[in-house]
Amino acid sequence: MTLAQIFQTARDWILPPHCLICDTTILTNGCLCAPCWKSIRFIDKPRCPITGVPFAHPWPAHMQSAQSRLVKPPYDYARAAMLYGSEKSRILIAQMKFRDHPEIAIPAAQWIARASRDILNKADLLAPVPLHRRRLFQRRFNQSAEIARALSQISQIPHLPDLLIRARHTQQQTGLKRRDRERNVARAFIINPHHKKRVKGRSVLIIDDVMTSGATSGECAQTLRRAGAGAIGVLTVARVVHPHETHP
Ligand SMILES: [Zn+2]
Repeated sequence: MTLAQIFQTARDWILPPHCLICDTTILTNGCLCAPCWKSIRFIDKPRCPITGVPFAHPWPAHMQSAQSRLVKPPYDYARAAMLYGSEKSRILIAQMKFRDHPEIAIPAAQWIARASRDILNKADLLAPVPLHRRRLFQRRFNQSAEIARALSQISQIPHLPDLLIRARHTQQQTGLKRRDRERNVARAFIINPHHKKRVKGRSVLIIDDVMTSGATSGECAQTLRRAGAGAIGVLTVARVVHPHETHP
């Protein structure tokens, strides 16, 4: 047994691993208990190669969703590990975001890596959605930056936590309607002047915890586009999916 394994065993004995959602004691750190695991809907194929939204029925791999043809997204592709909607998925994201559990970022990054294998190997840079410094001070950490850091370790793709900067403080998106969300984050981001040269022609993946309306990640994508980035992707732990998005 290595020293690290001895420490791990001692830590598990003093602080037994808990389910990330319901706090039930489990066998391994950074996992979910069986009932919570079953209640989470992880996204798998068949899915739209652009938006990453799972299709309601099996379709050929190259088929785009009708919605992505109708309204071209500001990004080139998006992938999410799970659907955001069930009570358990909401608790998981809230634990990470508001309840001081940044360690959830490690399993979250592993789930994202599994869901985005097809685009991770084409990427040059990971860039988390930034928090305004006022919100960063309140929460003490940026959950998206924690996920990007963990994903960088898994994928060996460099991450630039300060590539995108909040140019102004914005209202919380929660509770806002789609149009108001877009207005709220319009021109809210800029590229860090120190990194401008690193963006041109590079494939950048924006990392966030949840995609709801897509307004925030869309604004980040447009900011990167204006700065001359190549392919732009959005990777999230969870995303809201509407029924009309699930058909080719
Ligand atoms: Zn549980």
